[in-house]
Amino acid sequence: MKELNIGWAGGVGAPYGPWDTQPYSQLLGNRYIATAGQVALTDIYRRKGVKGIEDASLPEYALLIEEANRLFAAKQIKGLGELILNNQNSNPNSSFQRKAKIDSPAIIQLLEVAKRWEGFVNIHAEDEPGSVQELENIAAAYPSVPIILAHCLFTSNVSLIDRLLSKYPNMYCEMSARNESMYNNQFAKQHAERLDWIVFDDKKLRPNWKELIEKHPTRFMVGTDTFNSWVDVKKAVRQIRGGLLQNLSPETAKLVASENAIRVMKLEP
Ligand SMILES: [Zn+2]
Repeated sequence: MKELNIGWAGGVGAPYGPWDTQPYSQLLGNRYIATAGQVALTDIYRRKGVKGIEDASLPEYALLIEEANRLFAAKQIKGLGELILNNQNSNPNSSFQRKAKIDSPAIIQLLEVAKRWEGFVNIHAEDEPGSVQELENIAAAYPSVPIILAHCLFTSNVSLIDRLLSKYPNMYCEMSARNESMYNNQFAKQHAERLDWIVFDDKKLRPNWKELIEKHPTRFMVGTDTFNSWVDVKKAVRQIRGGLLQNLSPETAKLVASENAIRVMKLEP
């Protein structure tokens, strides 16, 4: 982070075992964006499937909520997530793929926690109409909770995002894994190209995305999605700076680079 001049990192669960964010917090202090929920939801999914993720009465949820309340109260987390609720096409590992109801009572109780502590919720979903409707339902029901759409829903439908951002002032887009370097083998690249995921590379930003971001400059933020050791962070950062930020107006670039994240996730220097 020092070498690459990166201010903050996190916003998701711990990417490696022992699946604990504490060491990251200890190492990075205020520069770490600590959250709760991602690892707990994946554990529930592994043992109880989609039904488990949607089951508000599970004791695992009671534990998660107790933990989240405690961590929010101690100012040790900023939000919840990444809650992976629909990644049917956007995760290569079939044992990790799932599609759960985003406005189920189980997830609603997590939104209640976020509302209580004024934290954000980071959700990985796709642009499948059912998931979009469920996201709209929670955004409307919890207008004070920032709903961050991880990877901007992995959608290529800029008019969908335009509509969502126009209608729901509490929705935001996070742009990780929308850059070319994320897809580093032929198979992954073909998949990403088929689904039209790649928005920017070393130099170029898709014109329709440039237009979308300039229309909603306060609603986008950058990310690297360093979820695996093979992710080339330096290359991702180079693409974020050279392909995404460089192609935006200076005012918009500042907002997208850090100011939106600082404001929405209440980051401290
Ligand atoms: Zn994700």
